[in-house]
Amino acid sequence: MRLRNIPAAANAIAESEYCVLDYTEHKGEWKEIFGNSHPLAMEIGMGKGRFLMDLARHNPEINYLGVERYGSVLYRALQKIEEYPLDNIRFLCINAEVLPEIFAEGELDKIYLNFSDPWPKDRHAKRRLTSREFLARYDKVLKKDGHLEFKTDNRPLFDFSLQEVEAAGWRLDSYTYDLHHDEKMNIGNIMTEYEEKFSSQGNPICKMIISR
Ligand code: SAH
Repeated sequence: MRLRNIPAAANAIAESEYCVLDYTEHKGEWKEIFGNSHPLAMEIGMGKGRFLMDLARHNPEINYLGVERYGSVLYRALQKIEEYPLDNIRFLCINAEVLPEIFAEGELDKIYLNFSDPWPKDRHAKRRLTSREFLARYDKVLKKDGHLEFKTDNRPLFDFSLQEVEAAGWRLDSYTYDLHHDEKMNIGNIMTEYEEKFSSQGNPICKMIISR
């Protein structure tokens, strides 16, 4: 998802109290941003952020960080959150590659990946957010007994991800090729923007929960 470059986006990000601009300054101290010691969950590639805002609204005792690399997309999330303010959410406009540089070991309690870019060409496999390279980055910042949840309607990406989980030595705790018809895994499911769009077109949604 890459929207047109919106000049207002840079200003809005610079001025928003929800965006952490000095993200290199908080390694090991992210809890201080929220002023409490609640668990810290992150969505990587949050797009317009509706999933994360819904989660934050349902779980005031958990802090949420939304990562989105494009300012023009993050801008949409900022417009939304101004309408329904939340204390327990902040946004980072970064490429997820830098996570190990800005978070201490085990600082994150949970990671969500939803409808990540498929990067279909083989030579771009390392850019997929479920590649072994990215799993190694999450391994550093996710607490030892933390879980990662991944949803997509892209079956080739999902199958690739299943292989990477094994290759990276992670554990596949549960998975489904049709989340919305999986009685157990669908309990409490919060739909993302892409999930709503693709499932309404008849695409089944795949989901995996993994840990080490
Ligand atoms: N999670 C949302 C949006 C999915 S689109 C939903 O399910 O509706 C994927 C999003 O991930 C895009 O907005 C894209 O810009 C972002 N993204 C892709 N690679 C990224 C990376 N390396 N770091 C941060 N964000 C990334």
